[in-house]
Amino acid sequence: MWRAGGMSAELGIGVALRAVNERVQQAVARRPRDLPAIQPRLVAVSKTKPADMVIEAYNHGQRTFGENYVQELLEKASNPKILSSCPEIKWHFIGHLQKQNVNKLMAVPNLFMLETVDSMKLADKVNSSWQKKGSPERLKVMVQINTSGEEIYTSPLSFCEGKHGLPPSETTAVVEHINAKCPSLEFVGLMTIGSFGHDLSQGPNPDFQVLLSLREELCAKLHIPPERVELSMGMSMDFQHAIEVGSTNVRIGSTIFGERDYSKKPAPDKSTADLKAPEVAQEH
Ligand SMILES: *Cc1c(COP(=O)(O)O)cnc(C)c1O
Repeated sequence: MWRAGGMSAELGIGVALRAVNERVQQAVARRPRDLPAIQPRLVAVSKTKPADMVIEAYNHGQRTFGENYVQELLEKASNPKILSSCPEIKWHFIGHLQKQNVNKLMAVPNLFMLETVDSMKLADKVNSSWQKKGSPERLKVMVQINTSGEEIYTSPLSFCEGKHGLPPSETTAVVEHINAKCPSLEFVGLMTIGSFGHDLSQGPNPDFQVLLSLREELCAKLHIPPERVELSMGMSMDFQHAIEVGSTNVRIGSTIFGERDYSKKPAPDKSTADLKAPEVAQEH
């Protein structure tokens, strides 16, 4: 039987990747025709995993990778071995971004997308920081929505997935702000982490349904075709369901790289310290 975690590491990253890609395609085939036919992007979430594993996945054809701590992303993306062996790598930042870390994030080589813009202020800060960098390309951004309306907390599954994101009711205003006031950003979609452990026998995941209806509302209000608004939802546990209901960007870690061992993490640095006191350190 296929299990997320352990087994994929034993079988090797190449085998795990191929299996995940097959499951992605099977889920695409089950997707209703009325959903935009966007081929989902697989983001291989390499957090806590060494550079060698990223290179191994890259050598098996994977190009897009995700990280959720700025410091870890900066170190991995600047790793000389990754820089020389993975020239086409694309990094997605998928963690909570504090304003004081924006400049550091903008320095990440091959940063392709920021999935977690969750306020106008953060959008402004990212916009001006990216502008200063003088990149010829706009930075692709998604707006992260707190679809479950939960308070910020630390997931029982791991310490890394705090609940952040914009209240759903503010979605249109923030996207309008990005489009009108942030010329160095390109709005590309909506992202949610969603609640953990949703039981699919109880019906579709309501978090995913919220993201879908927000896209509908956004597209109607701003006259954007739905094909132009991606949905980032789905992780190891629920990516097939997420794709069946319309996800265009799945973020998968443990099923590709094996379960994460946090005991091996180096002593807490600034980014992990941020987590322990998420709000005190933040400017508003
Ligand atoms: C860690 C993480 C993932 C991947 O989780 P898995 O369960 O290992 O697939 C996806 N999205 C975010 C935001 C994460 O932090």
